[in-house]
Amino acid sequence: MAQNTIDQRVGIFGGTFNPLHTGHINAITTVRSRLGLDAIGVVPAAQNPRKLPVEGPTNEQRLEMLRVGLADFDFVEIDEQEIKRGGPSYSVDTVKDYAERVKPDDLYLIVGLDQFEVFDTWKDYGKILELANLVVCSRPGHQLPFSADELPEGLRKHVAAFDRSYVQLDTGRGIDFVRLQDVDVSASEVRKRLRSGRGVDRHLTIPVEEYIRTQGLYGPLKERIGDYEDFTRFCGGVLNGRKAVNVRAFDLRQADAPAEFTLIASGTSTRHAQSLAESVAREVKEEYGVLPQSVEGVGEGRWVLVDYGALIVHVFYDYVRQEYRLEDLWKAGAPVDLPAERPK
Ligand code: ATP
Repeated sequence: MAQNTIDQRVGIFGGTFNPLHTGHINAITTVRSRLGLDAIGVVPAAQNPRKLPVEGPTNEQRLEMLRVGLADFDFVEIDEQEIKRGGPSYSVDTVKDYAERVKPDDLYLIVGLDQFEVFDTWKDYGKILELANLVVCSRPGHQLPFSADELPEGLRKHVAAFDRSYVQLDTGRGIDFVRLQDVDVSASEVRKRLRSGRGVDRHLTIPVEEYIRTQGLYGPLKERIGDYEDFTRFCGGVLNGRKAVNVRAFDLRQADAPAEFTLIASGTSTRHAQSLAESVAREVKEEYGVLPQSVEGVGEGRWVLVDYGALIVHVFYDYVRQEYRLEDLWKAGAPVDLPAERPK
């Protein structure tokens, strides 16, 4: 953002934008006009280096989607600072950067209601509320707070006055609640729709959709993986070769299940479970050139879920596996024989 914005009312809108969708555009255009903002910095977060890499756009591709998708909005400035800083992105650092140029009264951090609900878990959220006002946009499936009691716990102690659309905070700043003409869209839903070849007309603008198509982003993994039964055997072989405990696989095509195949294995410690999941991701990348669609739970290693679309791999710390007994859910599936090591 340029140095001469000092007397302007400025918004900051952060996110992963993976990809930019119509919900984001609705939020910034509505907030801009309701609050009379002069400029909004759109700040894509850096990819978290502590997470396992997953299929999806590079930082440069996410930036390009913002450039093509927001080209018509001259009040928007795409701000690369979090990507340039790298590492985990914390809003407080970005807000501090803006606060060097914009007075606290004129600075607005814009978040969706889902983010607001966990705002008191954000790093140094108290500091954020000294340096900037908050603007909270409605989001389908989430309820705007009716009273101060419904605010995130950490914020309640800062409330000086509450009215349904505005909270005055004792930091001198305020929280505006903005009810949008809701667009029921999330980036994760868009990714799912694209992967399964469903339409996204309502979810993406034409330039973003075109960019995704020309770059071949969010394509179905199926084409690259081919036969999922062989793929399941491959992953099972990797796990067996890495001394996973009790590795089992099921063909769930005849069962009513979210994936066609599933694999379950245990590690003897959380560390072992984590490294098993990492081995699967690494060796699949080597052999198939494909990263998982998503990975959850890797930081803790109690239950790591590696999602390859039609195959979901569950790696447990063995002790935790007993608690969930997932195999009971898959009784309707047919067992798949697995090799003792990674197939050649
Ligand atoms: P995901 O589905 O992957 O969690 P997302 O759709 O929430 O992604 P982000 O890039 O993480 O997208 O969101 C950036 C910001 O936009 C967040 O503050 C989020 O709350 C807000 N936001 C996202 N979608 C909407 C929507 N449909 N309406 C209002 N705000 C939204």
